[in-house]
Amino acid sequence: MSDYSFFGAVEKSFDKAAQFTTWDPGILEQIKQCNAVYRMHFPVKIGDKVEVIKAYRVQHSHHKLPCKGGIRFALSVNLDEVMALAALMTYKCAIVNVPFAGAKGGITIDPKKYTPYELEKITRRYTSELIKKNFIGPGIDVPAPDYGTGEREMAWIVDTYTSMRPGEIDGLGCVTGKPVTQGGVRGRREATGLGVFFGLREVLSMKDVMDKLGLPVGVEGKRVVVQGLGNVGYHTAKFFQEHGAKIVGLSEYEGAIYNMDGLDVDKVVEHRKTKGSLLNFPGSTNFAKNTDALEMECDILIPAALENVINGQNAPNVKAKIIGEAANGPLTPEADENFAKRGILVVPDMYLNAGGVTVSYFEWLKNLSHVRYGRMEKRFTENLNTHILGQIEDLTGKKVESKEKELILHGPEEVDLVRSGLEETMITATREIMEVWKKNPQIPDMRTAAYVVAINKVGTSYAELGIFP
Ligand code: GLU
Repeated sequence: MSDYSFFGAVEKSFDKAAQFTTWDPGILEQIKQCNAVYRMHFPVKIGDKVEVIKAYRVQHSHHKLPCKGGIRFALSVNLDEVMALAALMTYKCAIVNVPFAGAKGGITIDPKKYTPYELEKITRRYTSELIKKNFIGPGIDVPAPDYGTGEREMAWIVDTYTSMRPGEIDGLGCVTGKPVTQGGVRGRREATGLGVFFGLREVLSMKDVMDKLGLPVGVEGKRVVVQGLGNVGYHTAKFFQEHGAKIVGLSEYEGAIYNMDGLDVDKVVEHRKTKGSLLNFPGSTNFAKNTDALEMECDILIPAALENVINGQNAPNVKAKIIGEAANGPLTPEADENFAKRGILVVPDMYLNAGGVTVSYFEWLKNLSHVRYGRMEKRFTENLNTHILGQIEDLTGKKVESKEKELILHGPEEVDLVRSGLEETMITATREIMEVWKKNPQIPDMRTAAYVVAINKVGTSYAELGIFP
């Protein structure tokens, strides 16, 4: 499927949803287009050779500022992909009420082929290219991690930015997903996976939705397959396991494994670290291809790697009743159609994996406020709770059990506040999308309902801002 256009697929989903809105066609067209596309080539000395590196930053919309979205390092990075991912960021932020516009960046390299020193040179040079064109800054455009990048790369970016913009008081907010020691926020690393869990848990708690799928309500006992064990896949699988689901299948580049009695996620990761492959994990069955995981027997399938993995060809073989899109764009429009016909519920990417950008928003707020979450209220809350509990014990003449006591007295740490903010965000977004879907039964699937929510929010922004004469 080399002629597949990811941006085209996003446009297709957008158009499908636009008919359920009442926006002027001009506004719809403005929402859909990528506002600014920056494609660059720059030289970096690798060993004793000069390599010309190809990279991108796309700002899909400017209805709010800053723009926001990750940076991907992969050989498959191309303009069409970056444009699609930037557009998804606009819709994602709108759905979870994060006041950013969408953007995305990418460098067309295989990061495994470079030493950390070479990657640092490439990342710093990319950052300075962005600075030169005013494509980065806490009020302009704020990158974050994505496929192939993480805290280390974000630390290089913030260091390059702050050294080239000395004295900029909010400079730390130029990028998110940083290490905690460099202005990051606790809870960002696992945020996308935790958001996927919170979103699906909310869907699984809806009796009417579960009845339609013929599944019992709740996470407990659900059979889950996760494709991809990177940051997002690993944490998603881990949270599901911790809450009583059975992780029956896992996959990575080298293949997939299945065990109907459940796999211990950390043990699989440990096995992969020592053996260099997740295959031959004790008690499990091997599958040769990573994509074999998509066709395994389960209740919930979570693609957590790259786009376009479920298409018209393999969609009919998918056995899951729920697809949770932890990756961006794992389904083609043909797969969507197949699942809608078969009554399989697709919980869409641009809302389900919004946990990353939601916590990025919290990190950005922390950077702008120059104070750690919880610093002002933790001790105050603990003192107050101690006092209230003491009064209750005195008045009732009974003592609260020590584990309960610990829970009640505990004042919020940064990670507690971040996680509860994320939980609230994901629950609210799930309900909002389901509400729109229920109100309009013509809407064919949850993705379309999510797009309707996003289009209405971005449309309102454009309409209220007016168009510059
Ligand atoms: N790369 C992540 C995404 O696709 C996170 C973006 C961010 O935190 O800005 O949503």
